Amino acid sequence: MAETIFPMLAVERALAIVLDQAAPLAPVRTPLAAARGRILAEAVNATTPLPPFPASVKDGYAVVAGDGPGLYPMIGAVTAGRVADFTVQPGTVAYITTGAPLPPGADAVVMVEETEMADAPDGDQRLVHIRVAVEPGADVRPIGFDVAVGQAVLPVGALLGAAELGLLATIGVAQVSVHPAPRVAILSSGDELVEAGKPLGPGQIYDSNRPTLIAAVEALGGVVVDLGIAGDSAEALTAAVERGLAEADILLTSGGVSMGDLDLIKPLLDRIGVVHFGRLRMKPGKPCTFATVERGGRQKLVFALPGNPVSSLVTFYLLGAPALRKLAGWRNPHLTRVQVCLSQPLRLDAYRPEYHRATVRWEPSLHEGRGGLLADSTGNQASSRLLSMRSANALLELPQGEGVLEAGTTVTALLIGDVA
Ligand code: AMP
Ligand code: MG
Repeated sequence: MAETIFPMLAVERALAIVLDQAAPLAPVRTPLAAARGRILAEAVNATTPLPPFPASVKDGYAVVAGDGPGLYPMIGAVTAGRVADFTVQPGTVAYITTGAPLPPGADAVVMVEETEMADAPDGDQRLVHIRVAVEPGADVRPIGFDVAVGQAVLPVGALLGAAELGLLATIGVAQVSVHPAPRVAILSSGDELVEAGKPLGPGQIYDSNRPTLIAAVEALGGVVVDLGIAGDSAEALTAAVERGLAEADILLTSGGVSMGDLDLIKPLLDRIGVVHFGRLRMKPGKPCTFATVERGGRQKLVFALPGNPVSSLVTFYLLGAPALRKLAGWRNPHLTRVQVCLSQPLRLDAYRPEYHRATVRWEPSLHEGRGGLLADSTGNQASSRLLSMRSANALLELPQGEGVLEAGTTVTALLIGDVA
């Protein structure tokens, strides 16, 4: 099956096909400690209030607000985690710390800065000078002030980060239903490939796609199944592909999808599944191929990425990353888009839209000194030149066309890393 039988698909169309085939993985119950970065599959409502008791906001004295300023005997103390075994009668106060339950009888707190210890006349009972008048409820968080019983705390689809995990813990939830991390099998294919650390023979090169893709998948929260390197034989490829399909939700292969005699991946996928597309109208990454294969009653997604190191990583970000997020339950699986300003002129490609690698950074002088995002090209964009991905945190979406985009032109960038 020659590559040319596949029509050249626009990237947007290809991504729509991929996302159409990708369904969120079935939810699993997970302890909070393993839930960071996962997507919540159930809404969570509070079943206990926070605070569960009226709590002091300050270190100071629990008072009866109606008493007003004056000199009062301190009849006890209550610190966070303890409860008072006394009642604050009118005309008395009690020492209290932040987070401690308000003792019965008291209805407000006066912070310590507004008070003074006074010498007691008989030497055994301590007196406190309350210097200010406060309203009932002053510096007290009532029951449910932070989180009320029944309050919707997290919706279905929430991404569990630091604050969300804290919210779950604060309402006493120890396990949640989340979409699991997709398992992604990664295979490099090619007779010329050697693992770093081993000597290179004649005609050989080091395998860079596998370490690259492993890191990219792990950074996106995927669990990697490393399939190693397979040579250019139908047997070796079939064995590795079948292992990937058995053990993972997504299979990424690189190499062997071009027009050469030993480009065996497309025919293999065509035999065992459905090839949805085999060519993209884009630069770099034209031979990128996508297939689905049924295994174990589930539909597995296969991305046969081009061998050129830049092409494989760019096509992974454009198609594989959104698919991974969709399986992981993300409601919006797309890479973040921002508008950026070009720091230098860029020549357009006459035949294909280009994903130009760039480093996007905050530039305070842009937009009349209000600041904005500036994109520096990573230089020569040859698809074999992995240096063009170094420090790249964005793919600039350059339209197909004639001529040059001048410095200062605004273009859309897909973010693939943090903006420094
Ligand atoms: P292919 O798609 O197999 O024709 O490979 C295209 C180019 O990418 C060739 O120059 C390969 O040697 C190179 N290539 C393929 N796989 C890898 C890899 N895993 N690491 C580095 N270069 C590769
Ligand atoms: Mg090859």
